Amino acid sequence: MGLKSFLVDDSGALVEIPQHYRKSEKRLKQLQRSLSRKKKGCKRRHIAIKRVAKAHLNVANQRKDFHYKTAKKLLSQGKHVAHEKLNIKGIARTKLAKSTHDAGWGQFLQILSIKAERAGLLAIAVNPNGTSQNCSGCGTKVPKELKDRLHACPECGLTLLRDHNAAINIKHLAVGHSVNKAQVTSDAIAGITEKPALYASA
Ligand SMILES: [Zn+2]
Repeated sequence: MGLKSFLVDDSGALVEIPQHYRKSEKRLKQLQRSLSRKKKGCKRRHIAIKRVAKAHLNVANQRKDFHYKTAKKLLSQGKHVAHEKLNIKGIARTKLAKSTHDAGWGQFLQILSIKAERAGLLAIAVNPNGTSQNCSGCGTKVPKELKDRLHACPECGLTLLRDHNAAINIKHLAVGHSVNKAQVTSDAIAGITEKPALYASA
C-alpha cells in the first residue's frame, strides 16, 4: 500500500488513484467550505447541504468502483495476493491519517478478500514490521524515514523504490521465504558505483 500511489506490486508496477476521483474529492471539499459559510436556516444552506450529500455519494461510488476494478485486476493474474496488514488505529494517529482515509484501504482489502475467496484464491495479510526497512535482496536493515522514497542497500547495492522493496518483502513473508545473504550475486554488488552518503559512515 503506497503513499503516493495507491499500491505497488512486487514487480514494481504502480496502481495510481484515478484523476477523476481526485477531482470529485476536490469538488466535495469546495462544496463543504461553501456550506460552512451559509447561515443556519436559510434556503441557500439547504441547497448547499443537498449538494454536499450528492458529492459525498459520488466520491464514495467512484472509490468503490476503483477498489472493485483494482481487486479484479490483481486477482485476474490468477495469483494469491499478499498485502501488509492494515493497522488503521496505528496509522490514524500519525500524519498519514489523511491519506489513509482518502485511499480507503480498509474497504479495498475487504473487497479484495471477498473477491479472492470467490475465485478460490487467498488474500494474505502480513505483519508489515520491517518490510520497508529491510532489504529484499539481502535482508540487511536499511533505516529510512518516511520521506525517503528510495531503498538503496549499502550491503548488496539493490536500489528500488521504497514501496517496491516493501512489496517484495511482503511476498517473501507470505510464502515463508527466508532471505539468505549468500544468494546475493556479485552482479548485484557490481551494480553499486557509490554508497549513498547517508550510509557511508555506517
Ligand atoms: Zn541488500
